Amino acid sequence: MSLQVYIDGEFFPKEEAKISVFDHGLLYGDGVFEGIRSYAGKVFKLAEHLNRLYESAKTLMIEISLSRPGMQDAVLNTLRLNKLQDAYIRLVVTRGEGDLGLDPGKCPRSRVIIIADKIALYPQELYAHGLEIITVPTRSIPAESLNPQIKSLNYLNNILAKMEAINGGAAEALMLNAEGYATECSGDNIFIFKRGRLLTPPTYRGALEGITRDVIMDLAKGLGLEGREETFTRHEIYNAEECFLTGTAAEIIPVVKVDKRIIGSGKPGKVTRNLLCEFRKLTAREGVPITS
Ligand code: PMP
Repeated sequence: MSLQVYIDGEFFPKEEAKISVFDHGLLYGDGVFEGIRSYAGKVFKLAEHLNRLYESAKTLMIEISLSRPGMQDAVLNTLRLNKLQDAYIRLVVTRGEGDLGLDPGKCPRSRVIIIADKIALYPQELYAHGLEIITVPTRSIPAESLNPQIKSLNYLNNILAKMEAINGGAAEALMLNAEGYATECSGDNIFIFKRGRLLTPPTYRGALEGITRDVIMDLAKGLGLEGREETFTRHEIYNAEECFLTGTAAEIIPVVKVDKRIIGSGKPGKVTRNLLCEFRKLTAREGVPITS
């Protein structure tokens, strides 16, 4: 059976899962989304992801036809139907079909799409040896222009950054805001560790409030570390003892080189490794079971 995709209460085989070319999600990137992950039959931090989705939609005044429990059931049903245990779930809500103008008022009904597929894991060697990243010219969008807390379908800022990183021979982009402070990477949050302090940029500087980021802050406490939001520049990153990225797909990825500067010992550090170990234990333990 081919992959079954949920669109507005119905399931369609992957090849037939289609939406209108008049959908403003396509025409304007007008919509919101979430990337969620399930581990061994349990969906990790589902309530937190749904919260972020509904909050993003509220700010954009997109009315979602499903209640949160209804949305949770739809996600779980999609996983059940596709017999998935370890999966990546892409939940998309578009503004819906309208005319060719911008006015969202001409789009009477938003659309819910749920795609669940096998997770494409990052190569193990990335976790073992760490990642090299570079600063890119494209700056993060200021919160007063487009608040980074809105996880919208408009990812051009991040896509430009990702292309610049790849063009520069690195897998991931370090993004700065207009003032030159570090914000995040193209699809992950960034942390540095130095002298017992674990730091990540405040979200108002231009970073998404990542769910993995929040989990790391909690896990750090358990390890007796002081995890906090603090503004920093590239200088603090270059001179950190450790650096890592966090995200639903990437989990925790060590960074060993930034703009050709070796970070710490040049190998994934102890704090990063301990946090990844605690993170993996948590994902194995917690989550909403797929089978009710
Ligand atoms: N920043 C950006 C720009 C993202 O797109 C993401 C999600 N891929 C993250 C950070 C990490 O967020 P989360 O931990 O909730 O996946």
